[in-house]
Amino acid sequence: MATNSGYDAIVVGGGHNGLTCACYLAAGGLKVKVLERRSVVGGAAVTEEFHPGFRNSTASYTVSLLNPKVIRDLRLAEHGLRILERPLQNFLPLPNGDVFTVSPDNNEFCREVARFSEADAARLGDFQDRITRVADQIRALLLETPPSPSGGVSDLWRAMRMGLDMRRLGEEGQRDLLEFFTRSAGAILDDWFESDPI
Ligand SMILES: Cc1cc2nc3c(=O)[nH]c(=O)nc-3n(C[C@H](O)[C@H](O)[C@H](O)COP(=O)(O)OP(=O)(O)OC[C@H]3O[C@@H](n4cnc5c(N)ncnc54)[C@H](O)[C@@H]3O)c2cc1C
Repeated sequence: MATNSGYDAIVVGGGHNGLTCACYLAAGGLKVKVLERRSVVGGAAVTEEFHPGFRNSTASYTVSLLNPKVIRDLRLAEHGLRILERPLQNFLPLPNGDVFTVSPDNNEFCREVARFSEADAARLGDFQDRITRVADQIRALLLETPPSPSGGVSDLWRAMRMGLDMRRLGEEGQRDLLEFFTRSAGAILDDWFESDPI
């Protein structure tokens, strides 16, 4: 149904979620307007020059969450999307001139962590297992439409099914899930690890 403005939908904010949402709505036949307060669209995913000659995405430098379905549906490759493999997952220069690097090779990463703390290196595997278990559970839900409270029996059934899926995480997994949603990454990492770079 068209609003008074003549648009079917108005999206406030032209970050990548707003733009993606607007594209899907427009592909579904709606007349859509996107309102963006900055002079560029893209939000935190925009590429900017952070130092003369150096361009990078402000806060989406790894394409970890861009779903392959969205890449296909919006034909992003035809619009110039090119994904570059990074030789390192992260590179952190330290004030003393040293660097902390995160290699995609887990053994190498573990050795790097051990340079700063043997205890942290020993805990790394357990941390990765716990985070992976929760992430796998959430990833399975990413493309699901959330159940609507006023959606009737089928939505109630879907809500129950999602609840049952979460129960499969067990008590420890459910506690981890709650932590990841309610605490900052810094606080969680401080509980697990003792060295500053990590
Ligand atoms: C430090 C950091 C590192 C990150 N690293 C990664 C990464 O490596 N990989 C990854 O996938 N994700 C990363 N993220 C997350 C990623 O940046 C966000 O998931 C993504 O930017 C969210 O997109 P969005 O469209 O929801 O919001 P945003 O990108 O925040 O966009 C919101 C837009 O709305 C506009 N806006 C807000 N209010 C109004 C208004 N009232 N009127 C008009 N316009 C308005 C803003 O100007 C902005 O353009 C990182 C985030 C942070 C903070």
